[in-house]
Amino acid sequence: MTTGPCSLIDSHGRVLRDLRVSLTDRCNFRCLYCLPETEAAQNFYRGHWGQMPESKPILQQWVPKSSLLSFEEIERAVRVAVDLGIQKIRLTGGEPLLRHDVERLVERLAAIPGILDLAMTTNGFLFPQKARALRQAGLRRLSFSLDSLDRENFRKITGRNGLAAVLESIDLAQQLGFQPVKVNAVIIRGLNDHELEALAEFGRDQQLAMRFIEFMPLDSARAWLKELVVPGRELLERLQRRFSLRPVAEPNPSSTAKRWAFNEGSGEIGIIAPVSEPFCGHCNRIRLTADGKVRTCLFSVIEHDLRSLLRKGASDEQIGKWLEGVVYQKEARHHIGEADFVPASRSMSCIGG
Ligand code: SAM
Ligand code: SF4
Repeated sequence: MTTGPCSLIDSHGRVLRDLRVSLTDRCNFRCLYCLPETEAAQNFYRGHWGQMPESKPILQQWVPKSSLLSFEEIERAVRVAVDLGIQKIRLTGGEPLLRHDVERLVERLAAIPGILDLAMTTNGFLFPQKARALRQAGLRRLSFSLDSLDRENFRKITGRNGLAAVLESIDLAQQLGFQPVKVNAVIIRGLNDHELEALAEFGRDQQLAMRFIEFMPLDSARAWLKELVVPGRELLERLQRRFSLRPVAEPNPSSTAKRWAFNEGSGEIGIIAPVSEPFCGHCNRIRLTADGKVRTCLFSVIEHDLRSLLRKGASDEQIGKWLEGVVYQKEARHHIGEADFVPASRSMSCIGG
């Protein structure tokens, strides 16, 4: 995965291979850790804060349609990035399946030589309508988000009565041969941490790759609290108490997950601990937002305007040179939990997780 020439290298020597492309900032869910706009979300945070934090919430101004990159623009940006050494593309959002005719874009991207891995992250709610078209278009890998197996808790977390639909989508993805099917669960103390073992068991029984993710300060209300983070080490200890696990060797040095297989049964789990065990030193990702801004870190406070360049008639060569200059500036690391931490300018739904 990390071979072949690449001119996207930052000032810390990291070679960038992974581009996450957000297709829209809109979403049909309102997850408590991302777009906490529901009453249930407000109540949850109020219970922890006493009153909501004084730091200003991020004003959710949806990107106007005219600022969204078109499929042609996305394809061109991806092609230039792949020519420079990007090998992995993940389509995300917001909710990527809200983007009209998304399979047309997948088809165009799948045809670009040099992409070794084309994947998508989705909440799965609209997946049954698009599943076959996406598969035919060339999508091979999928990650779903599923933070609860309890109907009411699922609704509390996402703002939507959607558990049955998402479970159906996961099952359908497996039937259609998407491989692997990953399932992401953000574990938050006092919200769904009591479901950790049940989610792992679900992954084992359904032969899924479960990923447990620490809660990061990227919610639009800026209501994140360190106390709500269940550290990766604690997640692992609990899982090891319940299941017999063996470590899985990870061939990709830039992987974010520490992986474990079940000694009894198939399926595997991974723990992604960006808060308590940062992996910035081997991060190989950059992001392109739905409105055409390049972000070199989830926690970047500056964005680089690719859209203007694309629309001003820049050549591929000019765009390539510009991108090399942008990635050179990639931040060394995030500063979560430190006195100098400055929250990202946009929420996860706008950045593209
Ligand atoms: N809407 C799609 C979905 O939910 O899968 C794709 C976009 S979503 C922003 C991508 C991933 O980011 C999801 O797996 C979600 O759980 C994760 N995410 C969102 N906010 C987060 C936060 N504050 N901390 C950790 N992960 C977060
Ligand atoms: Fe939407 Fe995904 Fe954010 Fe949930 S995590 S609100 S599904 S973008």
